[in-house]
Amino acid sequence: MSEHSTEHTRVDHGAENIDSALPLTAGPTLMPSDAASRQPGDKVLCEACPVLCHITPGRTGACDRWGNVEGVLTRVDPIVLVERGSADGEEQAVFVTGVGAGTTYPDYKPAPFIVASEHDGVDMVTVVTEGIFSYCSFKVKIDTDRFLGPEQANLRHNGEIVGHVTTAEYGSQMLSIGGVHHLTGGSRREGRITCEMMAALGNKQAIEFSIDGGARVIVQAGQAPLVDGVKESRMRVGCGSATIGIFAKQWQGLVDEVVVVDDHITGVLSEHQAGRCLGMRPSGIELRGRRSTPGRYFKVANPGTGWGGTDISDPLSIIQDFDPALSWAGLRLLMVSTTGEHAAYFVLDAALRPQLAAMPGNVRDVVERIAQNCEPALSSVLFVGGAGGSLRAGVTQSPVRLTQSIKDALVNVTCGGAPAYVWPGGGITVMVDVARMPERSFGTVPTPAIVAPIEFTLSLADYRALGGHMDSVVPLAEVLARASKRLIRLDADNPWPLGAKALLG
Ligand code: SF4
Repeated sequence: MSEHSTEHTRVDHGAENIDSALPLTAGPTLMPSDAASRQPGDKVLCEACPVLCHITPGRTGACDRWGNVEGVLTRVDPIVLVERGSADGEEQAVFVTGVGAGTTYPDYKPAPFIVASEHDGVDMVTVVTEGIFSYCSFKVKIDTDRFLGPEQANLRHNGEIVGHVTTAEYGSQMLSIGGVHHLTGGSRREGRITCEMMAALGNKQAIEFSIDGGARVIVQAGQAPLVDGVKESRMRVGCGSATIGIFAKQWQGLVDEVVVVDDHITGVLSEHQAGRCLGMRPSGIELRGRRSTPGRYFKVANPGTGWGGTDISDPLSIIQDFDPALSWAGLRLLMVSTTGEHAAYFVLDAALRPQLAAMPGNVRDVVERIAQNCEPALSSVLFVGGAGGSLRAGVTQSPVRLTQSIKDALVNVTCGGAPAYVWPGGGITVMVDVARMPERSFGTVPTPAIVAPIEFTLSLADYRALGGHMDSVVPLAEVLARASKRLIRLDADNPWPLGAKALLG
């Protein structure tokens, strides 16, 4: 279990009558607690987290994850098993995930399931638990050029600050959501709202945020974002300069000038290296903003939700003038955004003023090709959790050896069977795409902290060598026999967790 940062209060939920009725029809996973956990008066003590609920019969504890079923402490959700194969002669295999596995506490107790299995003739072990994470957050990538809010702006959910806008990436705005400071460092309400929001976001639900000085955005893993109520459909093909570079040749001969409007780098074809290489005649167009390099302009407007992530609705507003020494009457000008969503065609009149004109079909074809080359805009939600704390004691008696073994690629770390990226440097900071995790992978405990599945898979020999809890290793068949289970197919994007090359030498 990770370090717990909040109250270690003993809560008698039976006495306070705030526990929940147990959904006995849900087919609970029976996880008998230690005999020592039994309490007089048929209450059971749940030791799966520091809250230490005393649960009356037929009720669940404060997190609704554990209940008292006829005097037995019971994890009420079934454990999730990932299944691979069974068709086309492929060997059928099952992987035990941490979803529904439960947690042991205090941390020195072995993890709830330490499962022996075989893969390609190698004896393997998977240590399975539901980690309780005080140190965790979500990094969210939102594929849009639209301005969501200034970097470092606060992000609110139900009025509480739960994160912030962080550094934008190529074609995407980035949010950093949750984290230990919001879970533990603010008011109780901030911690509770943050915790509930994080679990829902991890469970692929749609969450609405408002950004101070910016937009309202609805984020859902794997779905298109909604910005101020408008569904984003396209991710830009590139910045303005890149769009010029991609389509320059296709515009040659059809127009005399193209301006690709972009909040970051607006491109001007004739001046851009792409236009020069094609021998284009300078058009004499003069843009607002700051010229970075030839044909590449910064800050032509303010950020916003208009053309190319700027605040403009009239593209001519970014044109300062046309140089009479270079421009000519009849000059054909296309102005377009980086997604092709906005486009307008102009012809210069005798006074060198751009006049809106009907866009020729062959010019429109290239504009539509920009749109066709855009990828669908999505929200990507990545969970980041710190597993380098006391959670390691459930795996081995020498925690640092687990950390070292992960760094040495002897241990494959997965979350709900989904591959986890382990950050370099100290600790075990894992990052995983929640879209690849099973449904309802995340939960909460009221410390407050997030519950998330984590599995460590390694060879039996390596597990023994790093001081693993060998007495607690059980065969897969035994786990299958004792647990009510939810069997799901391996996500098509996920590699087989037992099959990581490094593990098999
Ligand atoms: S909050 Fe949940 S996990 Fe924690 S002690 Fe209570 S029932 Fe157990």
